[in-house]
Amino acid sequence: MTIAPCTYCGRKEKPTSDHVPPKAAFPKPRTSDLITVPSCEPCNKSFELDDDYFKQHLALRRDIEAHPRAATLLAEVRRSWARPEGGGLKAYTVGTLVQRPSPAAALELGQYIDSERIGTVLGRTVRGLYFHHTGRRIPPSYRARAILSEAATPDFQLAFECALFSSPDYALAEGMFAYSFAAASDDPMSTVWLLQFYGNALFYAMTGAPKVAA
Ligand SMILES: [Zn+2]
Repeated sequence: MTIAPCTYCGRKEKPTSDHVPPKAAFPKPRTSDLITVPSCEPCNKSFELDDDYFKQHLALRRDIEAHPRAATLLAEVRRSWARPEGGGLKAYTVGTLVQRPSPAAALELGQYIDSERIGTVLGRTVRGLYFHHTGRRIPPSYRARAILSEAATPDFQLAFECALFSSPDYALAEGMFAYSFAAASDDPMSTVWLLQFYGNALFYAMTGAPKVAA
């Protein structure tokens, strides 16, 4: 049996499957169309806390309430907080997600939301989705980052919309996740992505070559 290298670090030890987006973003029972990619166990394990934070971030967003599964996700988060071991996580999340900022405060999002963690989760998500579509790993030296749409300037949003204008849209998990992406013509691993959760929560993501020293 050949073992596929880890999508993230390339190692072949302790192979597991990693969900992209993380399965924590979807309430139980989960749909059968979620996407998985090969991941070594150490990478997979290292994602758990960030994934849990991302789940809580999604669940607490008011702008996804119209989706029929959003209430189930929120109920799961509430139950996890009720468990004795959930206390620390709750305090942490409440500390960073205590309120949704107004669009005017978008550039100060860091005050409210651990956007670093969210960027990490979604950066990995686009690495995985890229592998899912192309069978190729984006090298670890490439940056993979994501931001909340509220944190993007109008120019930034316009650039993304133009880049993705003719890209197909993909949707899965009963509309709990949809995405599209485009690659640069001169470097197919430099990519831009639009990620949408529960029909409304929008994130921009990108991968890019490491900066070369002049
Ligand atoms: Zn790995």
